[in-house]
Amino acid sequence: MLLPPFDQDTPLFRGNLHGHTTQSDGLQPMATVISSYQDLGYDFIALSDHLWDDATFAADCVTDGTAYDQPDFITLPSAELHCLGKRYDQDGLWHIVANGLPLDFAMASPDEDAPTMVARAIAAGAFVSLAHPEWYGMTTDESMMVSAAHAVEVFNYSCSIKNNRGSGIATADILLHEGHRVGFTATDDSHFAGTDYGGGWVMVGANELTSGAILSALKSGRYYSSTGVEIHAIILDDQTLHVSCSPASHVMLSGHGYYAKSVNGQNISYAVFDISDFDSPYFRITIMQNDGRKAWSNPYWFDELR
Ligand SMILES: [Zn+2]
Ligand SMILES: [Zn+2]
Repeated sequence: MLLPPFDQDTPLFRGNLHGHTTQSDGLQPMATVISSYQDLGYDFIALSDHLWDDATFAADCVTDGTAYDQPDFITLPSAELHCLGKRYDQDGLWHIVANGLPLDFAMASPDEDAPTMVARAIAAGAFVSLAHPEWYGMTTDESMMVSAAHAVEVFNYSCSIKNNRGSGIATADILLHEGHRVGFTATDDSHFAGTDYGGGWVMVGANELTSGAILSALKSGRYYSSTGVEIHAIILDDQTLHVSCSPASHVMLSGHGYYAKSVNGQNISYAVFDISDFDSPYFRITIMQNDGRKAWSNPYWFDELR
């Protein structure tokens, strides 16, 4: 059984879900941001400018780049939502990325809390992810408060290259251990402050390049995340798991707790795992090259597959 997003004969569209323009604290206007991602071969991007009542770094409305959309490249109206109450953030602000927002989505009021803001974004139709949990010290309690989000940013390129706090995998794993069925994202959080773009992306399986099809696929987990490794297929065959990918040095299977298996070597493009003793309600795949570039599958829950 081919697992999503490889189980249907759809293309995989490459996109960045988290990035900024001069609408907020990005250094390039949206036209330049869009053309830069087009030059890198992306199919879509989200313009997720900060949405908060502070003109020094934030916009006061959702960023809309759809006037620049073309048949082979689209933008998702998005925002990085903020509200008060976050511990370990100098401004006390939560950072929540919401892709596919209605243009009239309002910024949080001073008394709106993070769970309410996340619920409001989901109800408005957005794909919602927890931005850079490592960068701003998201606590386990905080992650549990906003576990209704669709995904956790397990890789944030800007945080990775600017302060080596770009991971979110520990936060994501805690939520999985607690039974929250979150997906993963890899993003740039690009501000065009140097080359902080093109480092982390998602590959989304959808039958057409429209915002509706991309958002639907994101919400149903039909994608994987990457910083340079390609996943070609993941196949569950009774008690055996097969993974094919671009040449890599490590293919890793992870589950509940510390449970993991790995295949290590050179130029591995196919790996097989015996999962007959895999004592976990879910599994996920991580693939790594010698240069540190990775790809992450979303978690797969056995009760949804069998
Ligand atoms: Zn942020
Ligand atoms: Zn950001």
